[in-house]
Amino acid sequence: MASLFSRLELERARRPTATDADRVRTIAAELIDELGITQPPVDVEMVASMLDIANVVADPALVEAGCLFCAGDGEFEIRVRGTDSLGRQRFTICHECSHTFFPGFATKVQYRCSPSTGPSQNPDLEALCDVAAGELLFPSMLFVADVRGTPFGLEGLEELADRYKGSLEATGHRLVSTWPEPSALLIFTVRQKPSEARTTATPRLRLDSAHPEGGWPFFRRHKSVAHGDVFDRALEGEVVSETTTISGIATEPVRAEVHAQLYPLIVGGRPRARVVALVRRVAS
Ligand SMILES: [Zn+2]
Repeated sequence: MASLFSRLELERARRPTATDADRVRTIAAELIDELGITQPPVDVEMVASMLDIANVVADPALVEAGCLFCAGDGEFEIRVRGTDSLGRQRFTICHECSHTFFPGFATKVQYRCSPSTGPSQNPDLEALCDVAAGELLFPSMLFVADVRGTPFGLEGLEELADRYKGSLEATGHRLVSTWPEPSALLIFTVRQKPSEARTTATPRLRLDSAHPEGGWPFFRRHKSVAHGDVFDRALEGEVVSETTTISGIATEPVRAEVHAQLYPLIVGGRPRARVVALVRRVAS
């Protein structure tokens, strides 16, 4: 970068009253515009190259989802975990690219990141990099129009994920943040709760993460689902699409249109049961 200032510092000077989230979104959108990208999927290696990142390498031995570091020859390199799905790798590459927007990134030896997967040393910075990554991989100028033409449900989510070459989770996250009504993406896996670690407690279907947008009660992470409810039936193989009352995993019952399905996840070469649910509120 020719300027002595980072992209974020320049954007702060230009828009003193905006939030950093809005600023990094703008920086990402301008980058997509500069690259002349007019249709998905975004070429993430081209984005990296535009940011003077010399290499993007998939490393099967990497423990974290991704890292950005300065190699001995002064060139920047991104490494992503080679065992992750292509969609997840693409989001991670965009996340690592976004670190270059921030002041001082070049003087730090390296960033090791697990985008969207729990606490990190600097959650604000990591969360902002996720925001920018969402804009890079699903640019608003393309994605908003595509969402407008997509019916709410998992079929629409799959089509968008395929079109943008994103993971179901990253695409779903972006979909609910773009959808004009209160909606949420809920991810469940079969596991023990953290307090049961190293016990013989039977693994159950539990809420891993919730990405609510608009007005929702609080979703309880790690909470198990009730036997026979919509999410449990999805685990059993049913493709669920119905209006129901969600309770238990939420701090108060809430009426919602629920689309839920089993999408096994490959972790360390082994399939793991995962239920993905896309929900939107309906009047009670
Ligand atoms: Zn990071």
